[in-house]
Amino acid sequence: MKIGLEIHFQLKGNKLFCSCSTEGTESGSAFQRKLTPVMGEMGMVDSAVKYENIRNREFLYRVSSNSCLVEKDEEPPHPVNTEALNTAIAISEALNCKILDYASFMRKIVIDGSNTSGFQRTGIIGMDGYIQTSGGPVRISTITLEEDACRKISEKHGRAEYSLDRLGIPLIEISTEPDIADPEHALETAKAIGHFVMSMNNFRGEVDSIRQDVNFSMGFGRVEIKGVSKLSFIKDTLDYEIKRQESLKEISDLFHGKPPEIGDFIDITDIFNNTGSSMIKKAITSGKSVMCARLPGCNHLMKYGNYRLGRELADVAKNMGIGGLMHSDEFPAYGLTGEELSQIYSAARKMDEDAVIVVIADRDSTESLSPLLKERMNKIIKLDLAETRAATTNGETRYLRPLAGKERMYPETDIPLIRITEDILENIKSMVPKSLDEIKKDLIKKYKLSSVEAESIINNNLLSLFMSLSDGFKNPSLLSRILLQVMPEFEKKRGTKLTQEEIRDILGVSISGGNIYRRDDGIKSIIGIARSRGWDRNTLELALSLYILNAIPVSELEKRPELVPLNEAEIRGIINELSEEGQLNEKNLIVMFRKKTDHSFDPRLVMRIFTEMKKSDKL
Ligand SMILES: [Zn+2]
Repeated sequence: MKIGLEIHFQLKGNKLFCSCSTEGTESGSAFQRKLTPVMGEMGMVDSAVKYENIRNREFLYRVSSNSCLVEKDEEPPHPVNTEALNTAIAISEALNCKILDYASFMRKIVIDGSNTSGFQRTGIIGMDGYIQTSGGPVRISTITLEEDACRKISEKHGRAEYSLDRLGIPLIEISTEPDIADPEHALETAKAIGHFVMSMNNFRGEVDSIRQDVNFSMGFGRVEIKGVSKLSFIKDTLDYEIKRQESLKEISDLFHGKPPEIGDFIDITDIFNNTGSSMIKKAITSGKSVMCARLPGCNHLMKYGNYRLGRELADVAKNMGIGGLMHSDEFPAYGLTGEELSQIYSAARKMDEDAVIVVIADRDSTESLSPLLKERMNKIIKLDLAETRAATTNGETRYLRPLAGKERMYPETDIPLIRITEDILENIKSMVPKSLDEIKKDLIKKYKLSSVEAESIINNNLLSLFMSLSDGFKNPSLLSRILLQVMPEFEKKRGTKLTQEEIRDILGVSISGGNIYRRDDGIKSIIGIARSRGWDRNTLELALSLYILNAIPVSELEKRPELVPLNEAEIRGIINELSEEGQLNEKNLIVMFRKKTDHSFDPRLVMRIFTEMKKSDKL
């Protein structure tokens, strides 16, 4: 099994080749374009490009508040965004890459309409690096800086609608060699790479800011899975793809690698003149035809057990804009009558072992669909599964288009070569993000956190929050306990996650212009009270959780009886009660004690009294 990753991270600030902001809203106006293929550097037209041309779609672009003539492709690109370039260099350094002497931007042909110009500008910054993982080093092939594409809003009736708001956002693409061993390792590698980018100040950090493509092969051709939206989906998506290919291998074995010949489409619209199916009736009224074709030997392979041949074919139809491809394994679900079924089967000349597909579309579309279906069936049975697939939001994958070849690049002549000088490299040194291991060591050394605390801060994605707040806390380990214990308890109680803003608000911290301000209310005043009252750590923590979890105002806190620590007599009383209820020992004492009382207490005092009582046989 071979797995490689291609992860894209958005940067915030300005766009890559103009001064528009990366953030914006829709402005209302729109324009329309149609794109046509051009030849690549080698004078060939790429197969993915050809395929898109068959689809013959129109594109509508919605103008956004953060777009100018560059996004409309009516003005040449401005000089490259230096902050984005420096970030790409810093990340290349962090991932042990060789930095290229010159950044030179190329045009990568994109004809799915997601770029107004028909190409995407992309430039390699670093190459031949590696990242350490538990399964050994994973080689990094390239780190490129490129512009993000338009955001797709909708697609119907051969027309795709895009927003310009995302077009041109700087994107850092990190590609690995296929050194990853399995889905679990892929997830670990993605997280490790993600850490470096996410620790940069200008990582965008919105819901759609990370997109991953996964290259996968288990011997049946390379599959490129586009658009895995979350790091955590990598494993699910790969698990699905492995199952899918295993099942197609079984199907191929059933045919001994010799593809069944899909019959020609036959018009069976007449069968449905008096149909009770409102879906079919509606389609016929709107001028569509019902067509069927025979798939020899495919009965129970369309959708049965692990077999999903039907979906493989339906995906091709769907990409042509033909929504409804039904097949015989699922006809019962469409409410067709027995009479209709037998007429379909006899029109298609179905034998017991055959399957039948039915397509509802105009005749022309069905005619262009037919060769594509045959081609797909051939590829599947010959186990040539190389193609581009799309990741779905539920961890599955769907056919997207043929694999794009290398005929897609030609030089961008509007942007001069950018020399990456020694001076630039020297200036960037301080920007180079640290590895997780280095950060852990820093947390332990600088903030006196335990190794477990440091790891939890990193693993729970609390690092940037902790770092941004730590200056405001004289006692960083108190901050770490609040973040790791009190806040999760609060989230559990509320049922939803706290946003970083909410956490800051609870902590009484504001950030403005990169500086941290502690408000005098909230936690700061509680810490003040603790000092003047001589509260021990436990009482302070109890006060903080009353304040955060139960929303008890600071002015009320001082009056709360729970915050007066238990005295020796009270402790003795509780220990007596506990020991009457059952087994009490040094190990469970504090846990049991805490369950028994809401009051603050000093665990060392409880332990001492317990030991004394045991010695003097009072228990
Ligand atoms: Zn712009």
